[in-house]
Amino acid sequence: MTRPDGAWPTATTTLVGVMGDPVAHSLSPLLHNTAFAALGLDWASVGFTIRPGEVTGALKAIAALGFAGMSVTMPHKAEVAAGVDERTTVAERLGAVNCVIVRSGRLIGENTDGAGFLASLRRGAGFEPTGRRCLVIGAGGAARAVTLALAEAGAHEVVVVNRNPQRAEAAAALGGSGGRVGSPGEAAGMDLVVNATPAGMAGTPEAALTPAVDPATLGSGQVVADLIYHPARTVWLTAAAEAGASVVGGLGMLVHQAEAQLEAWTGLEPPVAVLWAAAQSAVADRS
Ligand code: NAP
Repeated sequence: MTRPDGAWPTATTTLVGVMGDPVAHSLSPLLHNTAFAALGLDWASVGFTIRPGEVTGALKAIAALGFAGMSVTMPHKAEVAAGVDERTTVAERLGAVNCVIVRSGRLIGENTDGAGFLASLRRGAGFEPTGRRCLVIGAGGAARAVTLALAEAGAHEVVVVNRNPQRAEAAAALGGSGGRVGSPGEAAGMDLVVNATPAGMAGTPEAALTPAVDPATLGSGQVVADLIYHPARTVWLTAAAEAGASVVGGLGMLVHQAEAQLEAWTGLEPPVAVLWAAAQSAVADRS
């Protein structure tokens, strides 16, 4: 429905949102509302702080209140995956949902993190995973999504490096026949190296830390990606760029995972350039 003139939102505005804890820092409502305004849609997005133990109630409310969908962020991705009516293949394999789509009152769990990451690699470095050797640092939710997406896109090898060996094994299993646990020293021979840990993120104790791979060992002919988007370019990514690698920051993944969610909810092609501008300006304002 087209957004009406005058006071808004109205009784007919379609709602989506983002649920998490904390959620105040989330850029999702900004991205959603920017897209809705550019598309002239009578849709609106807000954030919901959902405390531990409240996820089941929140999912019931999404359906009962007629929401079109809901983004899901930390720490609820696994609990939402368990609570929805059905899951896409990707969400099922990851056991994690970052997007709920409501269709005929049923909650469908999707995960757009991996697709968003692949789109950011294409846009940021023209990188296609088919036949390539990839190394992922980390084995949490984001690393798992990235590992599965790279494998599904035809990567020859997806090597996982992580502190906790059990989590490393579980993530590497998502890499299919080319998935295995490896060591940081292997990064020099890879086509793609990804930091999927919070090490280097602004405003956290991890900011002083760098990921396990020494960026001085990386260089020309390699693509190096960091999922962190605040700062837009981490110290580690800057060092990899100085060593000659093509680098991709985390903002592209954020924009493109939102793009996929918006498309799933509205059936329309979101204005990616407008989303990029909004995301870049929001991150610059935080610096
Ligand atoms: P998570 O599930 O908590 O997993 C964190 C992973 O990082 C774990 O494997 C953990 O290792 C490892 N780790 C944590 N601190 C570390 C350190 N100081 N040194 C080495 N390894 C460390 O988190 P997540 O959801 O996967 O998120 C990871 C990062 O990706 C965060 O910075 C997040 O903001 C970012 N992210 C970005 C996007 C985007 O759109 N750009 C989307 C999702 C996530 P152990 O298993 O050994 O504990």
